[in-house]
Amino acid sequence: MGKKSYRINRLGNLLEDAYQVLIFCAAEREGRTCGHSAYLDLEYLRRRFGLEFEIMHHTVVPMLRCSKCGAKGVPYRGPIRLQLRVPE
Ligand SMILES: [Zn+2]
Repeated sequence: MGKKSYRINRLGNLLEDAYQVLIFCAAEREGRTCGHSAYLDLEYLRRRFGLEFEIMHHTVVPMLRCSKCGAKGVPYRGPIRLQLRVPE
């Protein structure tokens, strides 16, 4: 706080402060939740989109597909979710 406005979703800020972004698959199959999770590859996104890229559900999730059950991310809602992990 105190510094100029801080956009937490900016990729450069997330990398600088060592945030991680957890991806979680909540797809339902035969009454069970997939539950597969993985960390978003922020370095890959930096190389592809640069430091000004905003990490938001609708900018990231449509690029994702669950490697366990094959569920595809969609821009709003859908089975794939993001969760910001505060650095230790
Ligand atoms: Zn899945």
